[in-house]
Amino acid sequence: MKNILTLALLFCSAIWLTGQEMKPEETEVWSPEPAIVTPGMNGAPPSDAIVLFDGTSLDNWQHADGSAAKWKLEDGAMVAQKGAGDVFTREKFTSCQLHIEWRTPSKVEGEGQGRGNSGIFLQGIYELQVLDSYDNRTYSNGQAGSIYKQTMPLVNASKGPGEWQVYDIIYHAPTFNSGHEYETHPYITVFHNGVLIQDHTKIQGTTPYIGPPKVNQHGSGPLRLQDHNNPTAFRNIWIRRL
Ligand code: MG
Repeated sequence: MKNILTLALLFCSAIWLTGQEMKPEETEVWSPEPAIVTPGMNGAPPSDAIVLFDGTSLDNWQHADGSAAKWKLEDGAMVAQKGAGDVFTREKFTSCQLHIEWRTPSKVEGEGQGRGNSGIFLQGIYELQVLDSYDNRTYSNGQAGSIYKQTMPLVNASKGPGEWQVYDIIYHAPTFNSGHEYETHPYITVFHNGVLIQDHTKIQGTTPYIGPPKVNQHGSGPLRLQDHNNPTAFRNIWIRRL
């Protein structure tokens, strides 16, 4: 009986203290207020995005030597041209949200890494693989949605050749210490056609064809799309700085 009375007394005291000491307003944050952004419909850019390609011009893109991008502009898409080389945005970025749509050729030619190969390099350095991975086996850490030669995608969410596909990416740029090593690694989250395939994945370093990743100190960098000798197409590319 005594215990029950003690408990009841404690309970009442707790209610009384909470009521006395805190008001609802004390845990409300009114300032600052998040900026208003008008969302885009059906993958269109939100109002605060930087549009990197809207289907009409390659003006935002160049080759490594600064010359105008020689990829083909075709039906509202930019198409990789064999031998033209990778294309880079003129503008540089660090952490970002990126939306990019891509399509591998409808005519299936080649196999493995030779089918619709391209890539999206964050800060110009870290490759998120673009490949026709629909019924096309290759090494898992080299298929579509892999951080090339590092981290395979969680699942294969690929659509078939000739179909438009989407990556929605959240990328956090690395920071470096005085010894030119990562203080914080780059991290990437990727949705492929709306399906989570990279979940806050730690990027180990560069993504070379041969050998392990390396850490090379860098600052902001352009977005880079790969010419891997296949006519892979891109459209509706927009980015938001984070
Ligand atoms: Mg590639």
